[in-house]
Amino acid sequence: MRRLLLGLALISILISCQPANNQIITVNGPIKASELGVCLEHEHFLVDFYRKEDKQPDTYNTEDAIKIILPELEKLKAYGVKSLAECTPAYLGRNVRLLQELSKKSGIQILTNTGFYGARNNFFIPKEILLMTADSIASIWIDEFNNGIDGTDVKPGFIKIGVNRKPLSEFHSCLTRAAAIAHKATGVTIMSHSGPAIAAMQQLDILKEEGVSPEAFIWTHASDDKDQDLLIKAAKLGCWISLDKYGWDEKWIEGYPELLLKFKNEKLLDKVLISQDAGFVDPGNPEVEFKPYTPLFENLIPALKAKGFTDADIRQLLVENPAKAFTIRKRLL
Ligand SMILES: [Zn+2]
Repeated sequence: MRRLLLGLALISILISCQPANNQIITVNGPIKASELGVCLEHEHFLVDFYRKEDKQPDTYNTEDAIKIILPELEKLKAYGVKSLAECTPAYLGRNVRLLQELSKKSGIQILTNTGFYGARNNFFIPKEILLMTADSIASIWIDEFNNGIDGTDVKPGFIKIGVNRKPLSEFHSCLTRAAAIAHKATGVTIMSHSGPAIAAMQQLDILKEEGVSPEAFIWTHASDDKDQDLLIKAAKLGCWISLDKYGWDEKWIEGYPELLLKFKNEKLLDKVLISQDAGFVDPGNPEVEFKPYTPLFENLIPALKAKGFTDADIRQLLVENPAKAFTIRKRLL
């Protein structure tokens, strides 16, 4: 009996050491997947594209940023939005204290990320990281998952990497492999700014080599590839297809309902994520206009309903799919 009790105690200790498993991690701690609710899976608050190579410290005023962002978040409540994934990576303006404050002030649950943005030819990655191995890079991200980001206890809800819009360079293969290694250690989902299929398909090959399922991978900006059959092919492999630029211009507004209808007809709506890649307060450029988070609700949802999408379909896209995509769970081959 005593041995049995000891065994049960050990099991409960082991379980309590993995509090994040099957949960979603927000900047204010883990939540149940069922608590995510309506979620915008790819938006931004603040992106510092003007950061110079010497990596100057942040020069913007946090209070000014909150004054711009908070009212935009408040508008989302009218549409029942409960959560938002903020996709700005480290060295590009990620500021988890700002995210925490905005989450507390707005009541919107916010997810942040670990990872490096290699797109734009690695301009936003410190030079010393470009020389590191995939294992060493992964260990930085795993450390943020285990111990928190930038001296806080805020943990990443997903891994965000970025690669150029062409065949993978050696370093971008390395970044992808690092993401696979970090996924195997943590169960955190990989989101990759990949753009056209050429890079995304190579990334799926690297995941396969590492024994990681396509279900652990969000192909971000997938709608940049105009070959819709490639998007369908990737969805059939199990990869998440992120159609996240709704509202960027007329082309995106007109094309989205048709593209989503194609996924619905193929019975693949359960592999699609929708968002707007909006926001972008840019501290280096006050002229940059903030892109609102609401066009998806004002225009896309009514357009989808006009095409015969049911409430269950909309719920699939905005509630069930993000919950499944962001749940911490090792997805191995
Ligand atoms: Zn983005």
